[in-house]
Amino acid sequence: MALNLILMGLPGAGKGTQAEFIVDKYHMPHISTGDMFRAAISNGTPLGLKAKSFTDKGNLVPDEVTNGIVKQRLAQKDTEPGFLLDGYPRTLDQADALADMTEQLHKPLSAVINIDVDPKILTKRLTARFICKNCGATYNKLYHMPKVDGTCDVCGHHEFYQRDDDKPEAVQNRLKVNVKMNTPLISYYKDRDLLFNVNGDQDIDKVWQDVDKILSSL
Ligand code: ADP
Ligand code: AMP
Repeated sequence: MALNLILMGLPGAGKGTQAEFIVDKYHMPHISTGDMFRAAISNGTPLGLKAKSFTDKGNLVPDEVTNGIVKQRLAQKDTEPGFLLDGYPRTLDQADALADMTEQLHKPLSAVINIDVDPKILTKRLTARFICKNCGATYNKLYHMPKVDGTCDVCGHHEFYQRDDDKPEAVQNRLKVNVKMNTPLISYYKDRDLLFNVNGDQDIDKVWQDVDKILSSL
């Protein structure tokens, strides 16, 4: 049976980190709208030009743009065995649009995993995040250094970068924007009996154990 999943959580909650484990074990495409926007911006595509002014400031890209790229992505064949949405939906309008898409495509959602972390600790996590330039694996100066200093655990490359929107000036606004939408979205999926909460304020491995327990029970 296809596992059609949403990974929810505030910026810095650990979605990308857990997505690496999920994809490794359950083999489905990882669809991160944030990654799609960053790729479009770095390639200078029309989508990137539309998105940049919003992502730069930590604001949400308009729903019609975001819904459009997800709709195209979910229609691709590689989502047939399942998919993992990360960072989408982030508004109720997006949640409704996704419900229409999954119905039209006959790909009903299996579960929504909400990684729950107190927003107070997220500023510290986000400003310490760094990412492998080659494969996108995520690390943290305070909580998750590569096993060999300066070498990516996943692909062995040596170059890393910090996201522009992880600089302190953008982080505060991102958190504010996302905290506002988080509670109604959680209620939306709770009301539909799809929501599973995981305590994200634990070691990365422990969070993964909890996520995996849920996924293997579906
Ligand atoms: P998101 O995709 O939700 O924005 P990430 O997975 O990129 O979050 O994690 C944000 C930062 O916090 C990264 O630097 C990551 O290494 C680190 N991190 C992820 N999970 C944990 C955790 N459970 N405890 C401490 N740091 C974490
Ligand atoms: P993320 O990588 O998920 O932290 O997303 C980075 C940025 O991309 C966000 O701050 C938004 O500007 C934009 N973005 C990502 N996902 C969405 C979404 N579902 N709706 C609107 N904007 C989004």
